[in-house]
Amino acid sequence: MKVIFPGSFDPITNGHIDIIKRASFIFDEVIVLLMENPSKQYTFSKEERILMMELSLKNMKNVKVDWGTGLTVNYAKEHGVSILIRGIREVMDYKYEIQQATINMLMDGNVETFFMLAKPEYSFLSSSATKIVAQNNGEIKSFVPREIIDIIYKKYR
Ligand code: ADP
Repeated sequence: MKVIFPGSFDPITNGHIDIIKRASFIFDEVIVLLMENPSKQYTFSKEERILMMELSLKNMKNVKVDWGTGLTVNYAKEHGVSILIRGIREVMDYKYEIQQATINMLMDGNVETFFMLAKPEYSFLSSSATKIVAQNNGEIKSFVPREIIDIIYKKYR
């Protein structure tokens, strides 16, 4: 079975990667889907985010990187996928995620959202925390794979 892990990945972090890895052990294929929302401001361009996703996930055989715009459920329908994976870190995520999953359910009753709990060691980790630390020249090597560290620091130089 194929699943989609949608997100902004601005940038991808070890927290995302852990969810992707765990999902890749359970499902046949994981599509890590960068959803581009034209009304949202991103720090990294779409190309930079995709490059960082590809560099971070290159060793995972059944993981594919793609991008889309519009509704995730439409992408899912077009690609014959009926499961979306989302990660939950804490109560704030839960509140936001049930809202999103309910909207998706109303739009397409055939698409299910599966939630995976963050590992405790990643429950603090977010793309925004990574950026704040990098911007202030802090150490981000436990936040993101080493392949993408320079791309992140370069943004703030
Ligand atoms: P979005 O803008 O769609 O929330 P993100 O890239 O911020 O995109 O997150 C994508 C998914 O990854 C979300 O379900 C989010 O809760 C989850 N996620 C983010 N950081 C972590 C983490 N450290 N551990 C587990 N899941 C995470």
